[in-house]
Amino acid sequence: MTIDDRFPVARPWLSDLEEHYLLDALRSGWISSQGPYLHRFENRFAERCGAAAAVATSNGTVALHLVLAAAGIGPGDEVVVPALTYVATANAVTYCGARPVFVDVLPESWCIDPEQVRAAIGPRTRAVIAVDLYGHPADYSALRQLCTQHGLLLVADAAESFGAEVDGRPTGGLADVSTFSFFGNKVITAGEGGCVTTSDPALAERMRLLRNQGMDPNRRYYFPVVGFNYRLTNLAAALLCAQLERADEIIRRRDRVVAAYERELVDPPLVWPQPVVPGVRRAPWMASFLVGPPGTDGLRDELARVLDRLGVETRPFFVPIPQLPPYAGAAEEQPVTLDLSRRGINLPTYAELTDVDVKVILERVRAALATLTAARVD
Ligand SMILES: *Cc1c(COP(=O)(O)O)cnc(C)c1O
Repeated sequence: MTIDDRFPVARPWLSDLEEHYLLDALRSGWISSQGPYLHRFENRFAERCGAAAAVATSNGTVALHLVLAAAGIGPGDEVVVPALTYVATANAVTYCGARPVFVDVLPESWCIDPEQVRAAIGPRTRAVIAVDLYGHPADYSALRQLCTQHGLLLVADAAESFGAEVDGRPTGGLADVSTFSFFGNKVITAGEGGCVTTSDPALAERMRLLRNQGMDPNRRYYFPVVGFNYRLTNLAAALLCAQLERADEIIRRRDRVVAAYERELVDPPLVWPQPVVPGVRRAPWMASFLVGPPGTDGLRDELARVLDRLGVETRPFFVPIPQLPPYAGAAEEQPVTLDLSRRGINLPTYAELTDVDVKVILERVRAALATLTAARVD
């Protein structure tokens, strides 16, 4: 191991099984958006999530759009979303011509604050999208109560939380409808891909119709509505079938990496690990830490720069969505979002990191932190 070794922040773990299924799909000729791997994946994914149905899509962004479109959300409607998320959550609302209403997150879970949601509900509100940020599920029991009371659709953007559980129940079955992403850096991946899970048969049927250009399933080339081509390929589904079979092993290995970081980086007031609410088993998407005490600005970026020089790739937390030009001026400040966004960093998290790799990364993180402390004392 030399200092020249660079560690990326994410990497897919592909085995002989992925190769075998992918070649099998390829040789069968079923390379497009029909084929046995698609059915197999949808069935097994729904089962694993404890949902009645799974609808595979070409990525996680269109999965969100498909949900909102199938629910009939459109111009004049409002959808409540957390200010701290990946931009796709807000964009899906915008694609419908609806307005995303941004609310702050909780410091104890980094997920949408149900009390802030309550305050944001108005006569135009149609749905709430909770995001399981950095693998930690949102507070679905509080959100469920609110949404039932106000007749709103509860959507879980579970793109980052495949493998998470709340009181033993997996994500994918905790909201009215949940969306997943299988982008290259997600817990399980097909390079690109997505899925929606739900136990509402009418919503599932509507999503299947819209996914396939809106074509009447009983009458070819008859399109009663404007739909989309949001289909996944059988090739991608073959990869996902293999990833799903190996999911427990993938999660176990990633958990081990996150646990080692958290065990070794107990160094307040410089770094804090992601908090976990009791009863929650977080998904090991990307090991997440906060740098510096609350209110710190700039230290995270310094740490990232030093780590980059030492060969450790990191990621800063998302920029608050209301700070992005398309959403600027949308709302009041969200102080928790702003603080997390300035302090949060993700460290390399992937199944193939060995114990030795993790040790090397930890040594480099400690060295980088020492540099920062020294600089701050001077
Ligand atoms: C990755 C991600 C998405 C979008 O997924 P793509 O497959 O990249 O389109 C949506 N929401 C969140 C929170 C994500 O992390």
